[in-house]
Amino acid sequence: MISRLRGTIVSLCLALILLCIPCTAQTSFATHIVLDRETFPAESYPELQRIANLVSQDIDRLIPGKMSEFAYDDIFCYQIKPTDTVALGVIRAPITISADYRLPYEPQYVIPGRTRFALSYAGINVGQFVYQLAHEIAHVKMGVRLDNYLIETLATAVSHQVLIDMGMVPYLQLELGLEMAQLPADVVAQYRAQDLAPLRRYWQASISKQGFRMDDRPFQTLGAALIRSENVDWRPLLGVGFLNSNCPLNSHPMNYAACPPDIERMRVIAPILHSIGYDITPHGLSLPL
Ligand SMILES: [Zn+2]
Repeated sequence: MISRLRGTIVSLCLALILLCIPCTAQTSFATHIVLDRETFPAESYPELQRIANLVSQDIDRLIPGKMSEFAYDDIFCYQIKPTDTVALGVIRAPITISADYRLPYEPQYVIPGRTRFALSYAGINVGQFVYQLAHEIAHVKMGVRLDNYLIETLATAVSHQVLIDMGMVPYLQLELGLEMAQLPADVVAQYRAQDLAPLRRYWQASISKQGFRMDDRPFQTLGAALIRSENVDWRPLLGVGFLNSNCPLNSHPMNYAACPPDIERMRVIAPILHSIGYDITPHGLSLPL
């Protein structure tokens, strides 16, 4: 009797395990980047695709899950020659595109409506490829239909973290050096001394100059460095771009809107916001009276 019962229990456990394997396979999600064989050079294609897989795996680890707006299981990624970026006008690569039509500079085989990346990787330092790709995947994780200086800063911070995770600290240092050099001398000195309080004040004071600017890389790079000065939980970044109560999404033909951040609704990332100087407490908490 006992052995029959034990046998039944073992069978039940095995059945449960078998039932759960397909469940896990269906619910887990892996971001898959498909590099374009036409615009990436054939000789470096296999290595770049291998690196792209490592970048997407790392971001899936940092920010698990996918946005419901993202209807495809993979993201097509093509390369624009650095000389072509001049012709792009305001639409400068690297960029995430989800327009319902094909933009003039896009390859003929691009599927309109599908989320895709245009990278301007110059083919010289693979760190630049990782930096651009990680930044764009971070946009997809946060929601590609809304952008502003804060979303750009968050995407920059994620790309810096991926460079560290992939052992590409020399490229990160190169990037930090180039961007930080454009900030005022006293800010650079405070950064070298890791004097965080005045840096946070400077970053907050600079917000008023941003408006709808999304290309102030020195400002975004400083913000990213401040974010990484703390232990960051990147997981709540999933969908954070949609936490905005006054943004008319889908009104633009590019499926894209530029809206100021709605800080009150972004309290799910309160620790990150705090690291760049926002005076904000997490949901459910209040400052002691
Ligand atoms: Zn961006």
